[in-house]
Amino acid sequence: MIYLDNAATTKPDVRAFELAGVYATEKFYNPSALYKEGFALQSELKKARSALLSKVADETAFELVFTSCGTESDNQAIFSFARRGNAVTTEGEHSAVLSPFAELKNRGIAQPRYAPLQKDGRVDVEKLLALVDDKTSFVSVMHVNNEVGAINDINAIAKLVKQKNPRVIFHSDGVQAYGKIPFRLGKEIDLYSISAHKIGGLKGVGALIKRKALTLPAYLIGGGQEAGRRSGTENTFGIMQFVYAAENKFASLKEDATRLTAYREKLWSLLDKEVYTRLSSEDGTPYILSVSAVGLRGEILLHMANDQGLIVGTGSACSSNAKTRFSRVILACGYDEKTADGTLRLSFSPETTEEEIENAACILNAIGRDLKKRMK
Ligand code: PLP
Repeated sequence: MIYLDNAATTKPDVRAFELAGVYATEKFYNPSALYKEGFALQSELKKARSALLSKVADETAFELVFTSCGTESDNQAIFSFARRGNAVTTEGEHSAVLSPFAELKNRGIAQPRYAPLQKDGRVDVEKLLALVDDKTSFVSVMHVNNEVGAINDINAIAKLVKQKNPRVIFHSDGVQAYGKIPFRLGKEIDLYSISAHKIGGLKGVGALIKRKALTLPAYLIGGGQEAGRRSGTENTFGIMQFVYAAENKFASLKEDATRLTAYREKLWSLLDKEVYTRLSSEDGTPYILSVSAVGLRGEILLHMANDQGLIVGTGSACSSNAKTRFSRVILACGYDEKTADGTLRLSFSPETTEEEIENAACILNAIGRDLKKRMK
């Protein structure tokens, strides 16, 4: 089986799994317990926090709150800081941001505003800035788009937003960026969401990185874990497995990005241009290549590929329950419904091999040509 749906989730890092095993079997204590075994775990959690945070941020300015997933981190950021007036985001966001933004309106908290995308999937910065005014409390711009892989220069965008309104709290969904592209959080970013299962960690572990100076209200109230901001007994095994997986990913981040860029380009060069149109731009993340078999249905191709031993996505796995079959992100990039309907998202991991890329291209060409012939 060739697995090219790594933007949906990655195979857990087995080495990290083994190293973290001790936290499931021997060090199973509650980190809040007062005896020394519990206390020792608390200090290991502190180190875990620091290990994950230091990869992307200056630890004197930022801190990290563990959550259960990227979705929770996004929700916590939005519902904690979107207040009064309006809140601005982009049309390219994952549903973990878009749905809470819609909810801001439903609950009468703030008016959501949506900035359009450019053809390559990055936000149109001028139009985003035009939406920010003195009544804007919160701005959220994703770092790497999960459908087309476009990279927003969030440090630069946050700076421009704060020049317009210094009181804005700036959040970025970094779920598809963390551990994949080189990056450090700039001083204008206030909040940054990450998730373990996109980089070899387990599902059920995420974090919200926050500027220390920012007071984060309690999201879950109870035992007072995470300094009272997110109660619930910590998932020590999942957290430690996340740390080990992140150590592995960051150790080879640049080499992996260079190799996967070459694979992404190779895959595109091998695909039949009579069938496939490229949607992802060359300066997007090395981890995603979105293409469209314009006039064919991506979903049918997905199943045909599946039967041939190739797993791919059609867009965001989390929108597969959506009412419309067209990806709103592809439409927001300015493509028509036919292009959106034919979309396939091919997403890689450092474990992806060149041979898999070549075989995937053969399968995609064969099924694309076959379906095209049958559609005539
Ligand atoms: N944000 C982005 C950009 C994503 O790609 C995803 C998952 O696909 C999420 C948020 C949600 O993360 P999680 O699955 O950890 O809730």
